[in-house]
Amino acid sequence: MKYSKQREMIRALVADCRTHPTADEIYGMLRPMIPHISLATVYRNLNMLAEQGVLRKITVSGGPDRFDGNIKEHYHMVCTHCGEMMDLETDFFDDIARKIEQKHDFTVTNHRLIVYGVCKKCSNNNT
Ligand SMILES: [Zn+2]
Ligand SMILES: [Zn+2]
Repeated sequence: MKYSKQREMIRALVADCRTHPTADEIYGMLRPMIPHISLATVYRNLNMLAEQGVLRKITVSGGPDRFDGNIKEHYHMVCTHCGEMMDLETDFFDDIARKIEQKHDFTVTNHRLIVYGVCKKCSNNNT
C-alpha cells in the first residue's frame, strides 16, 4: 500500500473520531484495516498531518499526546477520572487573544486551554 494512501486513511479515521484518540489508540483502530502498519509509521504520519494543519495534536501534561480531527479553534475538557477528552463548545474565550494583546502589548499567535474536572458519567458513578 502506498504511503500517501495510508496517510489518507489515518487522516479520515481521526477526522471521524470525536474521542481525541492517542497514537496508540489510532494504531489499534488501523490494524484491522492496514494489517502491516507499524506504530512508528502511525506516529510519523500523525505528526506530519499535524504539521500540515490537517489535524491537531494536543499535548496533555502527564499523558500521551492526543489527536483531533476538528481543526476549528476550540477548547477541551479532560475528565481526571476516566481520562476522556471532550470538546468544549463555548464562545466565552473568543476574544481572549484580543484582550491579552490589548492589555499586555503581546501578540498572541496561538493558545491552548484544557479544563480538568470530572465528567457527568464519572460523577454519577460516585453518588
Ligand atoms: Zn469521566
Ligand atoms: Zn477537540
